[in-house]
Amino acid sequence: MLQSSFEDPVVPASPEVVAGLDHWRTLEVLQQPTWDDPAEAEAAVAEVRSMPPLVFAGEIDQLRTRLAAAAAGHAFVLQGGDCAETFEAATADRIRARVKTILQMAVVLTYGASMPVVKMGRMAGQFAKPRSSDTETRGGTTLPAYRGDIVNGYDFTPESRRHDPARLVRGYHTAASTLNLVRAFTQGGFADLREVHSWNRGFAANPANQRYEGLAREIDLAVRFMEAAGADFDELKRVEFYTAHEGLLLEYERALTRIDSRNGTPVDTSGHFVWIGERTRQLDGAHVDFFRRIRNPIGVKVGPSMTADELERLVDLLDPDREPGRLTLITRMGASRIREALPPLLEAAKRFAATPLWITDPMHGNGITTPTGYKTRRFDDVVEEVLGFFEAHRGAGTHPGGMNVELTGDDVTECLGGSEHIDEATLATRYESLCDPRLNHMQSLELAFLVAEELAKYSER
Ligand code: PEP
Ligand code: MN
Repeated sequence: MLQSSFEDPVVPASPEVVAGLDHWRTLEVLQQPTWDDPAEAEAAVAEVRSMPPLVFAGEIDQLRTRLAAAAAGHAFVLQGGDCAETFEAATADRIRARVKTILQMAVVLTYGASMPVVKMGRMAGQFAKPRSSDTETRGGTTLPAYRGDIVNGYDFTPESRRHDPARLVRGYHTAASTLNLVRAFTQGGFADLREVHSWNRGFAANPANQRYEGLAREIDLAVRFMEAAGADFDELKRVEFYTAHEGLLLEYERALTRIDSRNGTPVDTSGHFVWIGERTRQLDGAHVDFFRRIRNPIGVKVGPSMTADELERLVDLLDPDREPGRLTLITRMGASRIREALPPLLEAAKRFAATPLWITDPMHGNGITTPTGYKTRRFDDVVEEVLGFFEAHRGAGTHPGGMNVELTGDDVTECLGGSEHIDEATLATRYESLCDPRLNHMQSLELAFLVAEELAKYSER
């Protein structure tokens, strides 16, 4: 097994720890690809296993302390990006637009709520999708469902829909080149707070961008004042930016799990943060078993079927020592259910002494399909779920610690509403997602302004 690049001390993992990393293979593993040639699949996995880690254990530890601060109410976490990244869209322009959108939202939140924002992309690895059906039928033809670019192609042909192990290797390389560009943008001066106006350039003029410009002017004045007063803003040249994805394909996650040579513990180096999806969080399932054994900060999606008892057992498995920053619960109840479904879970978590980071995913409980067949969401439902999330935490005295949103920096028309009033007829004009509908640039900024207001109210309590 590869060691991470840390030199002293070199602590090997115990044989039990290493063996444990494969225990998931003895359990039921849902939502995996079915490769038709096991030797071809094994060769692809071996190639990923031989590659360098994408992230380092020290970064992962740092993220954990940031998430611990958010869990305690001292920071807010922003996770944003595509539902499903594609290989084709891993271009400089698209990646830059998404990073800019996240930076802009973070500035709105930081300034509006006077709170540090932990920035995380659903990026550089968000390639695998769980599906409700194994197959898709169009006009009498049935083929395997699209499971994300790391498994098969979207085109509706037998060749494209075949589960192709070579895609695991391409997934690794696409994650690496995306991450490289993200690191360049966020470490090389582009994310400098003094560039706050330039992030807005290139986006269409619209009300959200105008509001953002106003805020950017205020920030400029504050920065210039502080600089004149002797503050050193070169410190702000770099921002911390973390990557996150659903850790769905266990062969891939396992192949990138390495032993941290400082302390002998396993770290999944495919991204900083990985989460278990709503469809694979069974207490006795393979995903929970694998995630128990890695040291990354991890997330679990929590939908409306979760009971207090199940949550307690899940937390006991994934965070037995109640370590700050270890576990994030990403709630996705739906706008109409959050107010009754979330409070009992918040109260239960207090009873069993869990202090997870609670994040809202206001997207996945609010999906609808239009009569014309587009998967979409109403911006108003997204907002309503966020408001319900804040209300529930206010009632329970717990911390609303962040949000996970599907967004893009492009001017797509995938979600209904927002101040551009995207309607059902407009959806067709620029609907690009291969999976779930994303907030466009303007809707993302609008959401950030609204959440900043809620957070400001919350911290003034
Ligand atoms: C997702 O985040 O894209 C997703 C599939 O979510 P969930 O597991 O909550 O349905
Ligand atoms: Mn999705």
